[in-house]
Amino acid sequence: MKDINDLLSSSSTRKKVERFRLFLQLAGLAIFVYFGSQSTIYVILLSVPLALLFGPVYCGWMCPRGLFQDIFARVGSKTLGKRYNVAVPRRFHPFLMYSRYILLLFVLMTLILSVLGVLQESIEILILEGLVAIMIFSILLSLFVDRAACKYFCKEGAVGGLLNLVSRKKVTRDTSLCNSCGICDRVCPMWIKVSKKHIVTDHSCVCCFKCIQACPVCALHIKE
Ligand code: SF4
Ligand code: SF4
Ligand code: SF4
Repeated sequence: MKDINDLLSSSSTRKKVERFRLFLQLAGLAIFVYFGSQSTIYVILLSVPLALLFGPVYCGWMCPRGLFQDIFARVGSKTLGKRYNVAVPRRFHPFLMYSRYILLLFVLMTLILSVLGVLQESIEILILEGLVAIMIFSILLSLFVDRAACKYFCKEGAVGGLLNLVSRKKVTRDTSLCNSCGICDRVCPMWIKVSKKHIVTDHSCVCCFKCIQACPVCALHIKE
């Protein structure tokens, strides 16, 4: 029986793996539509144990917002060609990607103030509407920048990023096989320089494993 690394890196199973990803993302969308805001509890129960082992695989494989961003990325890259992914200058990206942690902190502070009864209801509603507007805007932004919501605006992604730091299994590059072609860097939706790392410890990795799928010499694996 093939293990997960074989399934990801084999060209014969690539289409099946992508169909499986689409199936899981649609399942994630169905859970969200059916359970509404209550789906958060199911998502936490499912994603946190997985994240402690592999990192935020929910992000790469099941998040409905990830699904929409992937669809928009396809439309955007086909329409814009080389002009896709240039809206955010790469030199600003390392700083901008901490914005989701600031957003997470803001939401946590709002929650605390709300529990303490300090916030007026009208302000709470305004903040909630603002957060929804930010999320819709950032998903639409992925028509111009790959996974823009995941990179800069997602508070759940920020939690996933923190879990990334303690996850046990990570994408690892076999330097004896790697020919430095840079394909893994180009396919990474989070703009991680995979070809420069021995182990991908980056907090922004969404564990999509597209780098493993794209490597022409099977130099990338999930390892402990
Ligand atoms: S970072 Fe947020 S939007 Fe992106 S896949 Fe993860 S949970 Fe979904
Ligand atoms: S795609 Fe594979 S061979 Fe190319 S740089 Fe990345 S790890 Fe190395
Ligand atoms: S490093 Fe690999 S697994 Fe992580 S986000 Fe980039 S492509 Fe996906």
